[in-house]
Amino acid sequence: MKAVQYVEFGKPVEVREIPAPEPGPGQVLLRVTAAGVCHSDIFVMSRPPADFGFAAPLTLGHEGAGVVAALGEGVTGLGIGDAVVVYGPWGCGTCHACAQGRENYCSRAAELGIRPPGLGAPGALAEYLLIDDPRHLVPIGDLDPVRTVPLTDAGLTPYHAIKRSLDKLYAGSTAVVIGVGGLGHIGVQLLRALSAAQVIALDVSEDKLELARASGAHLAITSDAGAADIVREATDGRGAQLVLDFAGVQPTVDLAAKCAAVESDLTIVGIGGGTLPVGFGLIPYECSVSTPYWGSRAELIELIDLARRGAVKAHVETFALDDAPEVYDRLHHGRINGRAVLVP
Ligand code: NAD
Ligand code: ZN
Repeated sequence: MKAVQYVEFGKPVEVREIPAPEPGPGQVLLRVTAAGVCHSDIFVMSRPPADFGFAAPLTLGHEGAGVVAALGEGVTGLGIGDAVVVYGPWGCGTCHACAQGRENYCSRAAELGIRPPGLGAPGALAEYLLIDDPRHLVPIGDLDPVRTVPLTDAGLTPYHAIKRSLDKLYAGSTAVVIGVGGLGHIGVQLLRALSAAQVIALDVSEDKLELARASGAHLAITSDAGAADIVREATDGRGAQLVLDFAGVQPTVDLAAKCAAVESDLTIVGIGGGTLPVGFGLIPYECSVSTPYWGSRAELIELIDLARRGAVKAHVETFALDDAPEVYDRLHHGRINGRAVLVP
């Protein structure tokens, strides 16, 4: 089968022919119908081989949708041809966090060598994808897999990040979204669907600001040195009760701190390496800073339900597996609008 692989440090991804996997006992084989391309892959591939953490070549892709192609021995509750999306942050299934479906915070995954598909285990940018356990699949029925697959990460990550702050998003409050890419544009839609907050979106190019407006932002402004003043003006000087930073680079983390209100949540989702000095006088009183990772199984189910009701619609650009090197190059240079989805 065809698979998009990270092969060598510093080199573009390669589309290679590799053997299709077969499901062992308890496993499920999917024929991939759509796979999303995340900026995190670029971060992963930018790390030198010594701290890469996974064995190369690695099939990329941690957003997967597919139909069940084969069932391993003992798997029940799924039928051949069922349409599903993949819950990516695989855990052990039995620790305290996993028992609540919060496998993204599994306490034993590292020790047991359990890795998400595309981030250690073979990923979804391929014709077939092996799933370790049927609990990592969520049925999507007749939803379009291409529009639904981004919800598994570009949707689930902001959903989790927003849900934990909903008590701060009272009527009259403001949420700031920095970076309106794959995650950010769905973040804007989720803020509108889940809260009464004013939503202000910031990005560096006009096409991203246009996507922010189309996604429901009340105000979309250029992310530059003057942006924090505009946010202050739009909030009667108070700042935002929730600031979501979907870039996480030094300029955006600095900007996030300038936009945050007293008693706010400052939530850094982007893995851009920016740091924030925390201490009295450095951030507003009672501002909580956090770095959430992905989301829970239950949250993915909730999100698929939201999509079925039409409350979230990922904006996608579609490509073939063969286009993967170009897609990563475009993503790196900020030239993907919404989420890039590869269709095998
Ligand atoms: P993306 O490239 O689609 O979107 C990033 C957006 O940030 C782009 O629109 C870009 O123009 C914008 N941006 C860049 N610099 C900016 C600046 N100075 N000011 C404002 N906007 C700026 O990437 P994505 O796939 O949406 O991922 C976003 C980030 O989240 C990445 O760092 C990714 O690694 C990370 N991520 C984290 C998690 C998690 O669990 N914490 C999960 C998925 C992705
Ligand atoms: Zn991701």
